[in-house]
Amino acid sequence: MSKIIDGKQVAANVKETVRLRAVEFEKSHGRKVGLAVVKAGDDPASAIYVRNKIKACEACNIASFSYYFDSGVTEAQLLELISALNDDKNVDGILVQLPLPKGIDERRVLSAIAPEKDADGFHALNAGKLFLGEATGSVACTPRGIIELIKSTGEDICGKHAVVVGRSNIVGKPVAMLLLQNNATVTICHSKTTGLSDITRTADILVAAVGKKKFITRDMVKKGAIVIDVGMNRDDEGLFGDVDFEGVKDVAGYITPVPGGVGPMTIAMLLMNTVDGARA
Ligand code: NDP
Repeated sequence: MSKIIDGKQVAANVKETVRLRAVEFEKSHGRKVGLAVVKAGDDPASAIYVRNKIKACEACNIASFSYYFDSGVTEAQLLELISALNDDKNVDGILVQLPLPKGIDERRVLSAIAPEKDADGFHALNAGKLFLGEATGSVACTPRGIIELIKSTGEDICGKHAVVVGRSNIVGKPVAMLLLQNNATVTICHSKTTGLSDITRTADILVAAVGKKKFITRDMVKKGAIVIDVGMNRDDEGLFGDVDFEGVKDVAGYITPVPGGVGPMTIAMLLMNTVDGARA
């Protein structure tokens, strides 16, 4: 029977650190740390994420500035807003909620954010700093949160075999880089990987970022492994991870639930990036 990693509790601890830093910042600078949140279109999941992020700002003494557009917004309008936010002294972090409406080049919009205000850590400069192992950039929130969750087990990452299933720019690749920085031996798997189960069964740390409900099954997991489930797959039956939690929980050493695992950490790390950016 594995130990359940309580993402809500770990996130609460991170948020308390953020709050203390944000209060300290306000005392010394005479203004609150500020996060601008930009949302375009009517994606229902995005609306929930944005609402939760704004609520979390309030709880952590961070001012949030919301900019909502309908799906008819143009790329030029978004670029103009971002340019103004880059120059706004009260804004320390800018978050553009993805996905953006069809026809808008997300890469171009994200690249327009000043790297030092890149709360999500998606800017090419910050991704490059992560690749080079430079500590000065902001790091993508979900991967940063995953590392905190693994560390919360008290297990040492150093020397372990970490297998990441998924190679997206927002989860798979950056989390693999962070695991490497923490001296894990890292294997990245994707849809063209052959013999996936043979590889995942050798993982001391298994990160599932696939986007497929219950994709990782019991037979794919080594006994005692730390299993981090990034997946958020919604269907008529509810919200499910990429890991078959019921089957895997008896073989893993530690496992994150969905919901209540990685999700809360992503928001906590967004706030941490924002407050770190303000202090820098
Ligand atoms: P993407 O769709 O961008 O990437 C999915 C990855 O999974 C791809 O690299 C793909 O490989 C790989 N993959 C797909 N099928 C297979 C397969 N059969 N075998 C092995 N690998 C496969 O997803 P994201 O990285 O953006 O997100 C992954 C999941 O995490 C989603 O459920 C998403 O909702 C969730 N998520 C959760 C967050 C949170 O805060 N909890 C934050 C961000 C994402 P290939 O590259 O070859 O196509």
